[in-house]
Amino acid sequence: MPLMILKGFEELRVFLEKKRNIVVVGHRNPDGDAMGSTIALSKYLSKKGHNATVIVPNECPQFLDWMPGSDEVYHFDWQNTQSQREINNSDIIFLLDFNALHRVGSDMQNTLEKYTNDFVMIDHHQQPEDVKYMYSDVEICSTSQMVYQFIELNNDLDLINADIATCLYTGIMTDTGSFRFRSTTSKTHKIIADLIDKGAENDKIHNNVYDANSYNRLLLLGQALSNLKIIPENKTAFITLTSDEKKQFDFQKGDTEGIVNYALSLKGIIFAAIFIEDEEQKIIKISFRSKGDFSVNKFSRNHFEGGGHDNAAGGKSDLCMSDTVLKFTKLITKYKNDLEISYED
Ligand code: 5GP
Ligand code: MN
Repeated sequence: MPLMILKGFEELRVFLEKKRNIVVVGHRNPDGDAMGSTIALSKYLSKKGHNATVIVPNECPQFLDWMPGSDEVYHFDWQNTQSQREINNSDIIFLLDFNALHRVGSDMQNTLEKYTNDFVMIDHHQQPEDVKYMYSDVEICSTSQMVYQFIELNNDLDLINADIATCLYTGIMTDTGSFRFRSTTSKTHKIIADLIDKGAENDKIHNNVYDANSYNRLLLLGQALSNLKIIPENKTAFITLTSDEKKQFDFQKGDTEGIVNYALSLKGIIFAAIFIEDEEQKIIKISFRSKGDFSVNKFSRNHFEGGGHDNAAGGKSDLCMSDTVLKFTKLITKYKNDLEISYED
């Protein structure tokens, strides 16, 4: 599969010369990049004279709800009638920050599968499903950077106002671990500089996202860190969090975001995982992170029904926590060689 696909965009440009009703969709459990890219794109399309609406499958974490325009986003789960109406009335749907329809969850997936107009996908995840119009690039750090580049491609950078800049900055910042992952390039920094010039207040954005912890969230982090296990011979570390532990610290959506990175921050560790019991979905939700060439996208696809990027992926397990961990630790021994050669420090 090529690293970059740009398909049908000349035809799309012509299609968008007329005023259109447009729906912009982000993935389930929207993160900073999903929220940032969808809101920014819809604001840009509105400035171009279209009637654009963002719909996400469910709520975003609280640390993102300050984003300009987040109050205008429809949630498919609890604003179902309005969401269905917007989808039915739309001439085209943009799919942002996800590569396959199932990533919106089964209810919204059913609706989107019945949709008879065309889809445009703008996304940076690997192995994208084929839709009519595609801009896919697995080397770009975030969908928000791709939205910036889409606007640039249309020679419309001067339409980026402070709100759009703030949304794009947030998406790029959260998907790059604040500009530190390998996917962060000089181009990313040039775009970030331009977004600051266009009104993104970097210090405020960082504060809003990273310094909005509740006391319970820090206690939950403390619990997670005390559950941290290391398998030094395989350069691997992992964390578990059970439903009871989540309840004990009044778990709120988004509270576990980023915890897996503590496991990866250990010296000598290049593969990290967090296993989080999800009582509602009756699964163990897993986040994988790696440094260097060990692809957690492949690992998760092969063993935990998931995927994502080479260095950050998600997956799930239908086994109980202890069996999931056992499956994982057994698997790791098989990858000993891959893990050993994948990263030179
Ligand atoms: P996170 O671990 O932060 O939830 O996700 C890391 C990356 O993997 C994100 O880019 C996310 O979109 C992707 N991802 C998370 N869970 C899944 C999953 O179950 N399936 C697939 N295909 N990708 C996932
Ligand atoms: Mn993303």
